[in-house]
Amino acid sequence: MGLICPDCGNEQSFLAKTLQIHVVQAGQAELELSDQSRPAVFELLCDECETELDFGSLDSDQRRDLRLLLGAD
Ligand SMILES: [Zn+2]
Repeated sequence: MGLICPDCGNEQSFLAKTLQIHVVQAGQAELELSDQSRPAVFELLCDECETELDFGSLDSDQRRDLRLLLGAD
């Protein structure tokens, strides 16, 4: 996919952190989930040195591939 860490040159292994919002309804006897968003990618780190890669600086194909992979928006 052509990702590369600007710090250590790693191009194999990365950590993608996602954020997902759930709506919890507490009015019933049991808690229920009424809604959930798809996860959004909010951080992409090198798995070797944990340098943060700027997700916004990836090209659009890379961002799309990563979102598809993660089931993210
Ligand atoms: Zn690195």
